[in-house]
Amino acid sequence: MAWDFETDPEFEEKLAWMRTFVREEIFPIETLALSYDQVVALIKPLQEEVKARGLWAAHLPVELGGGGFGQLKLGLMHEILGQTPYGPLVFGNNAPDSGNAELIAVGMEMSGDESHRERWLEPLLEGRLRSGFSMTEPHTAGSDPTLLKTRAFLDGDEWVIDGRKWYTTNGSVANFLIVMAVTNPDVHPYQGSSMIIVPVDTPGLTILRDVGSMDDPTVVYGKFGNHAEVLYESVRVPKENLIGVEGAGFALAQARLGPGRIHHCMRWLGQSQRAFDMMCERALSRFTHGSVLAEKQTVQNWIADSMAEMHAARLMTIQAAWKMDKVGASASRVEIAMIKYYGAQVLYNVIDRALQTYGSLGYSSDMPLEHMYRAARAARIYDGPDEVHRQTVARSVLKGYSPSEIPTEHIPTRQAAAKEKFATMLELLTAEQS
Ligand SMILES: Cc1cc2nc3c(=O)[nH]c(=O)nc-3n(C[C@H](O)[C@H](O)[C@H](O)COP(=O)(O)OP(=O)(O)OC[C@H]3O[C@@H](n4cnc5c(N)ncnc54)[C@H](O)[C@@H]3O)c2cc1C
Repeated sequence: MAWDFETDPEFEEKLAWMRTFVREEIFPIETLALSYDQVVALIKPLQEEVKARGLWAAHLPVELGGGGFGQLKLGLMHEILGQTPYGPLVFGNNAPDSGNAELIAVGMEMSGDESHRERWLEPLLEGRLRSGFSMTEPHTAGSDPTLLKTRAFLDGDEWVIDGRKWYTTNGSVANFLIVMAVTNPDVHPYQGSSMIIVPVDTPGLTILRDVGSMDDPTVVYGKFGNHAEVLYESVRVPKENLIGVEGAGFALAQARLGPGRIHHCMRWLGQSQRAFDMMCERALSRFTHGSVLAEKQTVQNWIADSMAEMHAARLMTIQAAWKMDKVGASASRVEIAMIKYYGAQVLYNVIDRALQTYGSLGYSSDMPLEHMYRAARAARIYDGPDEVHRQTVARSVLKGYSPSEIPTEHIPTRQAAAKEKFATMLELLTAEQS
């Protein structure tokens, strides 16, 4: 029977190297105020080192230039590199480029058309091109993409696209966007939506602004990680820019979002642990009202609760990843949905408690916690809000039950049935007693 919680020693060595590398080489970069281009230059040698160790783009299969590690090993790796926002960049799997590369790869498999490999996929994987994923619209509910209004129709050899998107992460620094549009309004959106690659310099495409957000309220246009609002007005691209086949938008979204969601959860484990480490250090260091914080029961509760929640989130994430390796992302939908909302809440709780432990210092930007806290809030919204994932889980669970007018556990009803079942024995027992 196979049932263990051990990492094989050979892989553990890689993880140990990653732990030291991330802490010693990447953490310090966080403290420097650098432009995106400066960061790119600074991390180049680090990326080379990651490549030389065979750890580059670990989320991708070998044939696409990745490590082909599978989800479980990836989970253990993401837990380490997710501790810092620069980790994914150094290890070749930063969103949204990582997910977009997967989309293009899945699309090529679907259509059998290999032309996207050289034109889009390889430059994206090598970091020569940057991308954005343009699905959410300001005026329709992103939680229900069947409502999307952006339209695309084929005119001769070209797609003509009209619509307005927002929260296209990295849109203002990207070379191309993958836009989700309705290509056949006469069928259900599940069959009538498609994804199309649009270079950002295509006439008719306007990046209206970068949206200020809780993460960056006084946003400066064109910064890496910003979220763009994008207008598509009669934007024309060659028909070959379609990803996969016409009408496959939802199928592609599922292929991208399933793994993408759990990859977030894996990185949140690292973020939570980092906040937890800060909390414990402060608890042992800060003296007030006759003792260090670590001796106050409230703080002990925060530490114990955080530890338990993080442990649960880790096991859930790793189990979901293990299941994905066994039966694929689609059959692991419920596990992925469950860890998406559970993990987001744990991340938020742990950072919140750590911030509180630090008091004014935690609220200040002298500690990374205030930024982590703001970023954690978004985790409950992006890639589907919590409520939608809870709905997925509840619906799936309820399929295993049926309605019953009289509750199955209704004691008087069960008692009547038990009396009938044991009637002869009960009669004998009563006779013996009298
Ligand atoms: C930091 C960040 C980065 C993002 N990056 C991208 C990106 O790169 N590309 C992109 O296309 N989009 C991106 N998004 C958008 C994101 O995917 C959407 O915000 C998300 O899908 C929710 O859509 P919405 O904002 O329109 O909320 P709505 O759909 O309007 O939902 C609002 C609220 O309604 C409630 N709700 C919704 N459905 C249900 C339900 N079934 N039951 C109960 N309550 C419900 C929830 O509380 C939800 O938060 C990003 C968002 C954030 C915050």
